[in-house]
Amino acid sequence: MDQKFLPFALPCIAEEEINEVVDTLRSGWLTSGPKTKRFEENFAKFIGTPHALAVNSCTAGLHLALEAIGIEPGDKIITTPYTFTATAEVIRYLGAEPLFVDIEPDTFNIDVQQIAEILKTTTGIKAILPVHFAGQASNMDAILALAKQYSLKVVEDAAHALPAYYKGRLVGNLGDITVYSFYVTKTLATGEGGMIVTANPKYAERMHALRLHGISKDVFNRSASNSPAWHYDVVAPGFKYNMNDIAAALGIQQLNKVNIFLQRRTEIAEQYTQAFTDLPLSTPYQHPDSSHAWHLYVLQLKLEELTIDRNNFIEHMKEAGIGTSVHFIPLHLHSYWRERYGFKPTDFPIALDVYQRAVSLPIYPSMIDDDVQRVIEQVKLILSKHSSS
Ligand SMILES: *Cc1c(COP(=O)(O)O)cnc(C)c1O
Repeated sequence: MDQKFLPFALPCIAEEEINEVVDTLRSGWLTSGPKTKRFEENFAKFIGTPHALAVNSCTAGLHLALEAIGIEPGDKIITTPYTFTATAEVIRYLGAEPLFVDIEPDTFNIDVQQIAEILKTTTGIKAILPVHFAGQASNMDAILALAKQYSLKVVEDAAHALPAYYKGRLVGNLGDITVYSFYVTKTLATGEGGMIVTANPKYAERMHALRLHGISKDVFNRSASNSPAWHYDVVAPGFKYNMNDIAAALGIQQLNKVNIFLQRRTEIAEQYTQAFTDLPLSTPYQHPDSSHAWHLYVLQLKLEELTIDRNNFIEHMKEAGIGTSVHFIPLHLHSYWRERYGFKPTDFPIALDVYQRAVSLPIYPSMIDDDVQRVIEQVKLILSKHSSS
């Protein structure tokens, strides 16, 4: 009998999450309320930061973050093309322009040397938006040093990086604002959701108001003593970006297990890396400055030693009942970004090369050892069948 299909990603939902959601449903309070507040408090404590703001996606959080640091039409923001389009689309929401720079060939994070080069020759740059690819922190000391030198803000896309350490410090305590994703495939899943963290009270206050229609809590509180309960004041044309209590209920229980989840993903990554020696592929490079959150396990196929390409490899995995994915199709290859900025594929040669070799393998806590072995055996089988040497 055929084995069951092993999906590329699955959320890890247990009785705790189900009970917390049921409790929310029975409470009668479904939108942002006590569960969202508790999730934010727990998250702030986990990261060790004063302000955590729950939102309905990481994309929303990144948009609010860029608005809060004062990004305006025509401003330029340095970011990576080796990411999901959300990272850069939020720059366009504000009428600003992304300046893409290529990635490092080992970590696939933004190349700091190239940030330094572009800063020497370009005016109007207001911020750097690094992505901690796959769950491994970018070179934050160098990024923060450049930000200081050129008076730039740093907003981190930490969609992959819960939890990740950089030189012993938890991501979320490094740049000006950090944003996490709780999309269903991420290391903490609420279906849809995100969290913004910052140590800056001004940014927190601004994002707090803007995430719910520009209704300022402080104005609200100040007037509360001498205003009727129905009164509120709108201080800006804000957004509808608040998290609901059903999602927050999931988040509360997922956060309790975030380190247990990490432990399991780390075990799986170690099993893969141990098994994949002497094969025509490279396993993920682990930078000594970082601890990996292992949101993704991205192989690089050595195409020059194979008779198949990456797409064939993925087809063979699928035929064997194993889901894989590709992270990422670099942004400069997508029609919107390509056409807007006139990019050629070779404009970011490292991103292009890494993309053509990249395969993301399943890595999630509910995978049992047999699942991991099954992936390992299939990878080995396909590569041995299609090896050119
Ligand atoms: C998933 C992801 C996002 C978007 O997250 P949402 O919560 O779906 O908005 C942003 N950046 C990166 C790098 C991602 O992988």
